[in-house]
Amino acid sequence: MPAQSIPTVAIVGAGFSGTLLAIHLLRRGGVRVVLIGERLGRGVAYSTTCNEHLLNVPAAKMSAFVDTPLDFLDWCRSQNQENSVEAHSFVPRKQYGAYLEYLLAEAKNERLEYVQGQAINAMPRSGGGFDLQMADGGQQSCDRLVLAIGNALPANPSVQFGASFYDDPRYIRNPWCASALADLDATEPVLLIGSGLTMVDKVIELRSTGFTGSILALSRRGLLPASHPLQSAPFTFSADQLPSNVRSLCQLLRRSAAQHTNWQSVIDALRPHTVKLWQSLPLDERRRFLRHVRPYWEVMRHRLAPSIHAVMECELANKSLSVQAGRLLGFRERSSTIAVHWLKRGSQNIEIETVQRVINCTGPQCRLEKIDNPLLTNLHDQGLLRPDPLYLGVDADTNGGLIDLQSQPSDQLFALGCLLRGQFWESTAVPELRVQAEKLATLLCQLHAQK
Ligand SMILES: Cc1cc2nc3c(=O)[nH]c(=O)nc-3n(C[C@H](O)[C@H](O)[C@H](O)COP(=O)(O)OP(=O)(O)OC[C@H]3O[C@@H](n4cnc5c(N)ncnc54)[C@H](O)[C@@H]3O)c2cc1C
Repeated sequence: MPAQSIPTVAIVGAGFSGTLLAIHLLRRGGVRVVLIGERLGRGVAYSTTCNEHLLNVPAAKMSAFVDTPLDFLDWCRSQNQENSVEAHSFVPRKQYGAYLEYLLAEAKNERLEYVQGQAINAMPRSGGGFDLQMADGGQQSCDRLVLAIGNALPANPSVQFGASFYDDPRYIRNPWCASALADLDATEPVLLIGSGLTMVDKVIELRSTGFTGSILALSRRGLLPASHPLQSAPFTFSADQLPSNVRSLCQLLRRSAAQHTNWQSVIDALRPHTVKLWQSLPLDERRRFLRHVRPYWEVMRHRLAPSIHAVMECELANKSLSVQAGRLLGFRERSSTIAVHWLKRGSQNIEIETVQRVINCTGPQCRLEKIDNPLLTNLHDQGLLRPDPLYLGVDADTNGGLIDLQSQPSDQLFALGCLLRGQFWESTAVPELRVQAEKLATLLCQLHAQK
């Protein structure tokens, strides 16, 4: 087929989701792939250079491919002559990044074009497809466009005073930026806002750089992610046991957990059913889940490698890390330090902590209108996408086809990954994203074959 008649799929975002979709499309053939990213190949999670940042999923569950579940484990073993990686090992995240690079290099051919940079707009062409505009002034054209842009930066927590501190270089809004821990005094305290996986990551990274100062982690409930069990116990749910509302979901989890000391296996057993369960719940029930269950679900479902959990326990026991439930009130800036004012949960006494840096670990901003990604804003302004009813991301059909302001699902504009939380709820980690990427690749090839 002459090059100009081959349909083009542009993928914005070259993290795990975009890269894996590109790999599937290249393997299937029949389309040209333009992969656009600010950093190519590894995305936010697997770009880390910190050896102590471990995957939070065991190696045997991290294959990029549904039909070869041990692909990652086998690859790890092929890299490591001593074969020391086991099915239940939690390997460094940067090793997973190397695996993704290897997979892409293997699939790569002349139909893949890398474009390094930020896409800022996409305008529909009259005959179908899009003209993409890049931040550096470049242009790209495509027949179909996939947004695989991952998580947005966290929002600045609301405060009663001192919001101007959010413009100070000692405040880090993007916990993943390379300079987040730069120029720290190794002994002066640091505040991490949030107590989830990102907070844990920053504690691990701080210690790996020789930081010995105290760390305060502040979040509304002060809940820490749980640990994976040292050994998993096989447990399954049958489809007829699945709950039809949030109350029965909670009852089911409580009952099952009481019967099984290894409650993690109970949560894991729900995972293959989660998407179906989520989609079967009425909107009000999903809202109820978000309001009452979400914070507890997050810490039980998104767990830590046991070795990382042990480090956190040790930090807490030594009091070098303090995890507090409370509300941030505001900041008073001083020349070399920042006084952080906060209210302990259930108390009226104002606490004041003096720190040298504040890092926002509160998790991604999901509300479309507050995400500062020009591409999303411009697509929204053109009426090509809208938020999902629960404001978890964008509204989409079950294929990831974006639903526009006229409620029409698109067969030209798609999303993949975190943006689809409203549709799938579980749309964050490799075991779900690999299913989405494969399904979307099949659909895109079918759509282009029909043309
Ligand atoms: C620190 C961390 C650790 C994690 N650990 C695990 C784990 O152990 N196991 C697991 O299964 N999951 C883990 N996850 C979940 C993780 O989200 C997924 O595994 C996966 O990496 C998500 O990939 P993604 O491509 O969807 O998003 P991302 O990796 O965020 O990639 C999206 C990319 O798109 C780029 N982008 C955004 N907008 C534009 C634009 N307009 N133009 C160009 N590029 C753009 C971004 O810069 C980014 O590089 C982790 C997540 C994080 C943050």
